[in-house]
Amino acid sequence: MKRRDIEILSGFVEPQRASWGESVLDLHSKDQSHHGPHRPELVIWPLYVHEVSRILAYCNEHEIPVTAWGSGSSLEGNPVPVMGGVVLNFTQMNRILTLRANDFQVDVEPGLIYQDLNERLRPLGLFFPPDPGARATIGGMIGNNASGTRTVKYGSTKDYVLRLKVVLANGEVISIGSRASKSSSGYDLLHLFVGSEGTLGIIVEATLKLVGMPPDSSAMLASFREIRSAGEAVFGIMRAGLEPAALEVLSTECVELIKKETGLQIESGNLLFVEFLGPGKSYLWEVTSLCEDILRENGAVYLEKGIGRDKRDQIFRARHQLGEMIIRNHPNRGFLTTDVAVPISHFPELLVYARELTAGVNFPAYVFSHAGNGNIHVVLMGKKEDREEWAKIGMVNDSIVKKALEVEGTSTGEHGVGIGKSKFMELEHKSSLPWMKRVKELFDPKGILNPKKIFL
Ligand SMILES: Cc1cc2nc3c(=O)[nH]c(=O)nc-3n(C[C@H](O)[C@H](O)[C@H](O)COP(=O)(O)OP(=O)(O)OC[C@H]3O[C@@H](n4cnc5c(N)ncnc54)[C@H](O)[C@@H]3O)c2cc1C
Repeated sequence: MKRRDIEILSGFVEPQRASWGESVLDLHSKDQSHHGPHRPELVIWPLYVHEVSRILAYCNEHEIPVTAWGSGSSLEGNPVPVMGGVVLNFTQMNRILTLRANDFQVDVEPGLIYQDLNERLRPLGLFFPPDPGARATIGGMIGNNASGTRTVKYGSTKDYVLRLKVVLANGEVISIGSRASKSSSGYDLLHLFVGSEGTLGIIVEATLKLVGMPPDSSAMLASFREIRSAGEAVFGIMRAGLEPAALEVLSTECVELIKKETGLQIESGNLLFVEFLGPGKSYLWEVTSLCEDILRENGAVYLEKGIGRDKRDQIFRARHQLGEMIIRNHPNRGFLTTDVAVPISHFPELLVYARELTAGVNFPAYVFSHAGNGNIHVVLMGKKEDREEWAKIGMVNDSIVKKALEVEGTSTGEHGVGIGKSKFMELEHKSSLPWMKRVKELFDPKGILNPKKIFL
C-alpha cells in the first residue's frame, strides 16, 4: 500500500478508529493458531455500513487486500492478512439492533460477542446455541460456520442465520434471506456467505434465529478403559435417537489435566460427558435411564448420573478452557489442532486411529471430541524451534485428515479452511472445487477479500 492509500482510507473514519502503529499491526498479524504472523498495513475499526462500503470500493479500485477480523480466535489462520493491506476489526460495531423476542429473532452487528448476546437473552428464556467457547464474534462465527458442544442437538451457526447484510468487494451493499423460518425462494445465497471466511463479502448485519431454553437439564459422566468403547457408546446413544444436548469425549490425558488444573472431582479414564435438556424431571429420568443402559452395555466402568447444574457448569467451563490449559501446561511448545469430522458409524474407528497414531509419538498429544457430530480434535504440542518434531506433527495431521476423507468425512468440522486446510481442498472437493473458484471470481474478481485463503 502507498502512503497516500493509508491516508485516504484512514480519513474515511474518525482518527481514533484507524491505526498503523507497530503494536496494533502486530496484534492483527496472528490468530490463535500455529500459523506464522503476517502484518496488515492498516487497521480500521468501522462503526457504520457506509464506512465499510466506502473502504471496500476504494480498496477494490486500487486492488488493496481487505481482511475482516472478529476476535482473531480462529485456529487455522483464517483472519491472518497474509497479503498485508487493510484489516477491518469489527469489535466496535457490536450493537444488538432489534430484538424480536416474540419471533425468536435478533438483528445484530458483526462484532457482537456471542456470550454477551446470550447474557442479554437469558432473562427472556432465549438463547443462541452455537458455542465455540472462545470469546468469538457473530461475524467470525458466521465467517467460519462455527459450532460447539451444543451442535449435536441444535446444529451449527449456519442453522441460525436467517438474513445477512453484506458489503461486496466493489462496495455494493446487498441483503440476503428473509425473516421467515423457511423459504424456497431462489438460490440460497445466504448460506454461500456462511463459512466463506470473509472471502466473498463482508458481513455488516445479521438476523439470527434464537431458541427457547428448556427448563430442566440432567448430565452424566461415564468412564471407559478403552477410547473405542467410549466411541461405540456415542454411536449407541445417537442410534437410539436420545438427542443429547452435549456429547463430549475426553481422553485420559485431557481428564488428568482438567483434574490437575481445576480440582474438579471426576473419575479418571476416557470420559464421556452427556447432557440432556428437557421439559421436566420425568422426561429426563426416562432418557437418562435409557442412556445409562447404553453406556453400561458399551463397557462403562464408572457412571455418575443426575449431575446438577453447578457441577455441569464446572464441567462445561473446564471443557471450554481445555485448549488454554493445554497451552499453559507446555510453555515452550506451540500447538496444532486437528479438526476432522466423519459419519457417525466411522466415529469409533477414527477415534482409535487418532489415539494409536499419537500413542507412540514423543510429543504431547491430547484427543477430545464433539462426539455426537463425529468431530475429533487432536491437539499436538511441538517444541517451538524443532523442525523435525513439527514435520512429524504435520504428518500426523495429514494422516488423520486423509483417513477422515477416506470414510467420506471432512478435513474441517468447525475451524474452517483458512491457511492450514487449503492443501486438502482438491482431495476433499474434487470436481466441485473449480466451481467454488468460479464463485469466488464472480463475487471478488480482483481477489481483494482475504486473499490466499481456502484456495492454494
Ligand atoms: C480455545 C479455543 C477453542 C475453540 N473452540 C472452538 C469450537 O469448539 N468450535 C468452533 O467452531 N471453533 C472453535 N474455536 C475457533 C474460533 O473460536 C471460532 O472459529 C470463532 O468462530 C472465530 O470467531 P472470531 O470472532 O474470533 O473470528 P476471527 O478469527 O476474527 O475470524 C474468523 C473468520 O471470519 C472472517 N470474518 C470475521 N468477521 C467477519 C465479517 N464481519 N464478515 C465476513 N467475514 C468475517 C475472518 O476474516 C476469518 O476468516 C476455538 C478457538 C479457541 C482459541
